[in-house]
Amino acid sequence: MLDIETKHEQCTICSHEYTSMYTEIMPGVKIYVCDECLEAARYNFIWVCMSCRKVYLRSKKLVIQRLTNTELKRAYILCEDMQIIQGLDRCIACDSEGIMNYMDVSKTASC
Ligand SMILES: [Zn+2]
Ligand SMILES: [Zn+2]
Repeated sequence: MLDIETKHEQCTICSHEYTSMYTEIMPGVKIYVCDECLEAARYNFIWVCMSCRKVYLRSKKLVIQRLTNTELKRAYILCEDMQIIQGLDRCIACDSEGIMNYMDVSKTASC
């Protein structure tokens, strides 16, 4: 999932650390992830809004606990140990009218 580049870029998640690790969350869309944020991705699902670049973290445990769809729940449990960073087209902040459904986004997870 992660690739390394020679140049250092600012971490997309925390906008604080510089890192050469990146992942493609959508074809052609790279986000940079530092060690700390990668560690955070072990315990949290991380979504990055493609439109405003806002970052959302949700505890995996909480997300899984709240799921009522057993099929989806099973898929999530399989993903629990993976570091998942995904892209959103629009987040709540840029699309307050629309109802953002994180679960729908996550169905496309490739894990
Ligand atoms: Zn970071
Ligand atoms: Zn947004």
